[in-house]
Amino acid sequence: MGRRYYCDYCDKKFIDDIEQRKKHLQSSYHIKLRNIHYEHCKEPETVLREELLKIPCRRFLQYGSCQFEGNCKYTHYSPEELCQLRQQVEHNQIMRRRRLEEILEVPSVESWVQKYHSANKENTDIIHTFWSYPALFEKRLDLPPSLLKFKPEQFVDDSFEEWGK
Ligand SMILES: [Zn+2]
Ligand SMILES: [Zn+2]
Repeated sequence: MGRRYYCDYCDKKFIDDIEQRKKHLQSSYHIKLRNIHYEHCKEPETVLREELLKIPCRRFLQYGSCQFEGNCKYTHYSPEELCQLRQQVEHNQIMRRRRLEEILEVPSVESWVQKYHSANKENTDIIHTFWSYPALFEKRLDLPPSLLKFKPEQFVDDSFEEWGK
């Protein structure tokens, strides 16, 4: 038994010699299945663009099938199916645009630094913190030092000989 050739499109196995292979690859059966396969791999945009250029296939409309299948020069899509296809294409475009915007929303380091400087320019005495001190605590006298509100005037000594003492 010689080598065998397996055709993915047709799910067919046959003895692999040049003549047989050539004959198979040129057969209308193989071409039809190959075209159907590529039709499924096409982007919806491409299918829509191509199908909108075609006029409806009368054979397909009348009998529900057509020997040319995906290879037909007329369209096998009904107006409803074309409408659905268009909606899918539009949905895909929106999602793509949204994804692109999300990527663009990450600011550059330069723009961040610029924004930081302009926000802190007006008053350099104000310390910007990411938290706010709870107003409830301001009047309380029973808090441990670590929970007391920090006041700049309490900051009298910045020469730390040793940390943690
Ligand atoms: Zn084949
Ligand atoms: Zn047709």
